[in-house]
Amino acid sequence: MKVLVTGGTGLVGNALKSIKKDYSNNYEFIFLSSRDCDLTDLQKTKLYFQNEKPDYVIHLAACVGGLFKNMNYKVDMLEKNLLINYNVLKCSHEMKIKKVVSCLSTCIFPDKTTYPINESMLHDGPPHTSNDAYAYAKRMLEIHSKAYQEQYGDNFVCVIPTNIYGPYDNYSLEDGHVIPALIHRCYLNKHNNEKFMVRGTGKPLRQFIYSEDLARLMMWILEKYEDKESIILSVGEKDEVSISDVARNIAKAYDYEHMIEFDSSYSDGQFRKTADNNKLMNLYGDYKFISIENGIKRSVKWFIENYEKCRK
Ligand code: NAP
Ligand code: GDP
Repeated sequence: MKVLVTGGTGLVGNALKSIKKDYSNNYEFIFLSSRDCDLTDLQKTKLYFQNEKPDYVIHLAACVGGLFKNMNYKVDMLEKNLLINYNVLKCSHEMKIKKVVSCLSTCIFPDKTTYPINESMLHDGPPHTSNDAYAYAKRMLEIHSKAYQEQYGDNFVCVIPTNIYGPYDNYSLEDGHVIPALIHRCYLNKHNNEKFMVRGTGKPLRQFIYSEDLARLMMWILEKYEDKESIILSVGEKDEVSISDVARNIAKAYDYEHMIEFDSSYSDGQFRKTADNNKLMNLYGDYKFISIENGIKRSVKWFIENYEKCRK
């Protein structure tokens, strides 16, 4: 069975690559990059699917970024994601793909809501204005997948991961998510003997999942998940941490804790988006997640070892 992984060169795609040996008896994996096929182009996407003839699709490809990329590139976040998702689902339908697992995000939930957020609340109100363009494109991916389920009986499901981090992340200081951006900034600040500058107040709360945990859960979804509704893939509420906890863990990994400083002239973004992982825990059993302390230690080690060639 052939599994096409779109976004195969990204953070989650690389995590799937790192665990693929555990699944190699049953599957051959193809990891697609934008250099193999530009998924915003329908004709190229059709040709790619016709040539590769996959059985399954894990759809990760997206225009992705942290708070500041979402605020500064709204047209890209909307248009590229709408096009990529439209083309991947359309071609998957035409090629009669057995199952498509697509990625949403907990940051696309309504801004004004009750906590914890669960799967049924995705469309219950507007997302936070900082990432509304990305959020609406991603919400359409769920509507589109359900439309294919309902009109044609296609097995197109969506997962809703919380903030992801790990090796092969985008470590850009401006466009990256908070963990990779801070891992890079702390590295430079320490090198220059400067304060470790963290944006915002440090008070917002987030749940984080290590990319390898997410990759294992995505394979479980592909193989075992029979529900048609979306499912949150996240650590539990008790593992929610503040941005200031994250900064402290990163600084600790560099032995630079005494130099943290918060710059509250920058946006905090959404204050919290606490997600309920009960559906996952009830169906999977008690998945043991890598702790944020260990995940950050591993990511810092990977970043230092790959400083010259990593995405930044
Ligand atoms: P990433 O590291 O930024 O990787 C993005 C991937 O998409 C790359 O492989 C890239 O290929 C590919 N891509 C982008 N534009 C493309 C195009 N026009 N045609 C073909 N491929 C294209 O992303 P990620 O962090 O692994 O995210 C994976 C999925 O999880 C995404 O759907 C994202 O929305 C979702 N998600 C991410 C987070 C997070 O914290 N990172 C949280 C929740 C959900 P190239 O490398 O060749 O450009
Ligand atoms: P979000 O979870 O979708 O909001 O995305 P991020 O991963 O970008 O996290 C944003 C939170 O981290 C906000 O509260 C930011 O103020 C805070 N933060 C602190 N420093 C940085 C940084 O250098 N980059 C990013 N992206 N966020 C930062």
